[in-house]
Amino acid sequence: MDCEDVRLHLHDDQRGHLGPELHRELRTHLEGCPACAHEEAAEHMLTEVLERRLPQHPASLALKRRLLAQWPAAPVESRPWWMGVIWWEWFVSGGGPNDNTYSPRDKPAEKFLTAWYHRG
Ligand SMILES: [Zn+2]
Repeated sequence: MDCEDVRLHLHDDQRGHLGPELHRELRTHLEGCPACAHEEAAEHMLTEVLERRLPQHPASLALKRRLLAQWPAAPVESRPWWMGVIWWEWFVSGGGPNDNTYSPRDKPAEKFLTAWYHRG
């Protein structure tokens, strides 16, 4: 599986729609490819923010792609506007799978955000 395959399958994988074989190949690639791992983190982040926040209006793929284009290439320097919202609400709301706010707390996105901001 190359980078292009991984990008194609990320969305399905995060919804558990990938078969075990593909899932394993994807995981193996992500472990060895920082660029795709970064892409996966961004995908998680956007799913969390856009789809859990507005479950009745799932984010279109086009909107996701636009936001992904703004995902900072390096941490800290240039955060898109919505990052501020997330940090603001991280500790304000309760968190967890039933917390339907921007907070990534106790959700899958938290793991990725934490890794992202601690890597530099
Ligand atoms: Zn890759």
